[in-house]
Amino acid sequence: MEVIEKGNSLRAVVQALRCSGKSIGFVPTMGALHEGHLQLLRAAAQENDITVCSIFINPIQFNNSDDYKLYPRALEQDIALLNSVACDYLFVPEVLDIYPEQSPLRFSFGELEGVMEGKHRPGHFSGVATVVSKFFNLVQPHRAYFGQKDLQQVAIVRQIVQALSFDLELVCYPTVREQDGLAMSSRNKRLDPEQRKLAVNLYKVLQLAKAQLHSKSVAEIKEEVARALQQVDQVKLEYFEIANPKTMQPVTDVLALPEVALCIAAYVGPVRLIDNLLVNLKEV
Ligand code: AMP
Repeated sequence: MEVIEKGNSLRAVVQALRCSGKSIGFVPTMGALHEGHLQLLRAAAQENDITVCSIFINPIQFNNSDDYKLYPRALEQDIALLNSVACDYLFVPEVLDIYPEQSPLRFSFGELEGVMEGKHRPGHFSGVATVVSKFFNLVQPHRAYFGQKDLQQVAIVRQIVQALSFDLELVCYPTVREQDGLAMSSRNKRLDPEQRKLAVNLYKVLQLAKAQLHSKSVAEIKEEVARALQQVDQVKLEYFEIANPKTMQPVTDVLALPEVALCIAAYVGPVRLIDNLLVNLKEV
């Protein structure tokens, strides 16, 4: 695997590859890689001639400076993992190379970002959209791979691709979980052993909510989830929503849709985690 730090060098490499007819699969990440990332990288390697991974902890998508400072960093280990999945290029730019000056761009996604992550993390999706657009321009991938774990982010990126006419296919893969059900996340590395055990309650309440979709109202399910988490030490619910997976808007009548997304964000100790389940209502 070749490690590239400069955007211009990457651009030259991928342009030559594209000219020689190679297809390029791109997996953008913030590093501290785990099996969720590796799933995307394996898929990219299988479906394309060349795989490019980026590791960049994008400062402008963090609305909490501690979250940025304490975000896990593990480049050496990441490089070993990337070699194990036959990644061809790793792009690891410096912040100053991506943002030589403060980015003046602001993206706005209307109602898509008025809820959940957009509502609770002001500016987050504008920062995501800025870096994703820049990286799509530098990497010029044929396919870009994202995880369902960040469901609202996928909807935002879909809108960017459409609105800015990026010539690429967006590919989304399901959430990879630990054995007990906790969604894999780089931020899990910040949990102490006790918090790690408690973190599984996010998944547990999603399952609890799923089991009640046919028998209880949205308001009742939301109350039940809040009540269940209130009883768990160190876990503080930020939101639980039942959303339309296409628009991300809150659903009032669950049974009016073929599929709903159960979405949660909560603090476990100092660490903010998110998770979701896509539920096909015919199957529950
Ligand atoms: P991150 O490094 O957290 O920015 O994630 C990079 C990509 O990996 C994003 O598209 C995430 O949605 C995806 N991802 C993160 N965790 C998981 C997971 N547990 N399962 C599947 N994809 C994931």
